[in-house]
Amino acid sequence: MRLSFSILSFTVIPTLVLSACSGTAPRLRETPAPDPTIAIIGANLWDGTGRAPVANAVTLVRGDRIICAGAAGECMVPRRARVIDARGQWLIPGLIDSHVHMLFLIGGSASEELSLDLHDLMAQGITTVRDMGTNPAELLRRVNAMGAAAPRVYAMQLVAGRRFFFNGFRGTATARGRVFRQPPAMTMQALGWTPILFNPDDDADSVVAVAREAGALGLKLYAQLDLESVKKLVAAAHRAGMPVWGHGWVQPASALEQALAGQDGVVHAAGFAGELFSKEERDTLVNDGNLQMATAEVATVGAVHDPRILDALDSMARIGTFFEPTLDATRHSVAYFDSKRRHIPSEQEEYVRAASGFGMEVTREAVRRGVRISAGSDHVAYGPANERASLLGELGLLVDSIGLSPRAALLAATRDAARALGGEPARRLGTIEAGRYADLVLLSKNPLSDIGNLESVEWVMKGGQIWRPGQLRSGIAMK
Ligand SMILES: [Zn+2]
Repeated sequence: MRLSFSILSFTVIPTLVLSACSGTAPRLRETPAPDPTIAIIGANLWDGTGRAPVANAVTLVRGDRIICAGAAGECMVPRRARVIDARGQWLIPGLIDSHVHMLFLIGGSASEELSLDLHDLMAQGITTVRDMGTNPAELLRRVNAMGAAAPRVYAMQLVAGRRFFFNGFRGTATARGRVFRQPPAMTMQALGWTPILFNPDDDADSVVAVAREAGALGLKLYAQLDLESVKKLVAAAHRAGMPVWGHGWVQPASALEQALAGQDGVVHAAGFAGELFSKEERDTLVNDGNLQMATAEVATVGAVHDPRILDALDSMARIGTFFEPTLDATRHSVAYFDSKRRHIPSEQEEYVRAASGFGMEVTREAVRRGVRISAGSDHVAYGPANERASLLGELGLLVDSIGLSPRAALLAATRDAARALGGEPARRLGTIEAGRYADLVLLSKNPLSDIGNLESVEWVMKGGQIWRPGQLRSGIAMK
């Protein structure tokens, strides 16, 4: 990270002394051009690499990249750099929410909430998000049109099996008799999302080609996919250098099967309930059963210590499969039901309440067993604001309910989240190191002593451009 003075001095434009041909002519000094480097000096630097914070640090940014970050003396400040005094404050990498849903089309147009929500995320210090649903091409087109005052957006391509699109005419057996539901894919499509249907005999490479053409970062496996389908999709995506994530228990394939198939990550802690069913039971449940009620019945806190769940977690830790628990989304769902004055809980409510305690305990076991955690919130840019999960909420739960240190929680939203995204983000985001994108957050308070101090955002830098939280709605970059 250390830069020699000769490299830095190259950027300092020397003062020009212009002499006229006559010795009596006045000597003119041209005003020196400012150096394009931004030097953030005096901050406590927590760079996300895993090293201890560096007091009184110097961080140099030029263009959209970090060019040096370290202790005073490690990075030489060019003479005419723009200096930002950050004494006593905390400089951390821009935060990454690895699980959001931004695009919701109504009548063909996105609600204005999309841009407001992206500005709000930036104001919270979130400089990158990964959309786990969506229509990748449409979302990226709309985000690009917004300009710089939005986080970097990466989009995953949804893939699901046949019954997700055509759920037959038999309905689903429930305690209240047979229930006929609209296929989930139709609900998604009505909101403008573009799930791709995959049958076990289909060509997985062509699914990957469509996803790539749409600008997707990777595949998100959603539901109704068996083990053979998961294997084919993972192999095809990896051939193209794209990551594959999926719901834990992509129904019928279980989280363990997904991990063993080489899938890069699983989301939603409640999905580990799938490990508690035999392969035959999983197949039957998917086709004829009531998945939600079956999950609600088995997903107890005690069931987390079942050897089948522990085996799945141990395998994930061994292979390096990422796990994204999405605890804050479940907490919001529980809070929603708590606010209702109902005496008879719906199936949905029973499921949510079971998933909450079960998911917390699964996450605790995952952390104990060394599973790599990525902090994704399942935030949605749609609906009542107080019902939306948030990254800060997720990090708060990881510390207060799961027992992670604030440092470990921060890694799950910076370095490890970048690795979880894979591809370009893994190489360019998540840490403050020379060569990475200049995505930074300056806090007035120490987030390592209290994760809640992430709310003390002074400014957010994305690609070398600085924004103060209050400016983000107006879109005017700080001068
Ligand atoms: Zn989601």
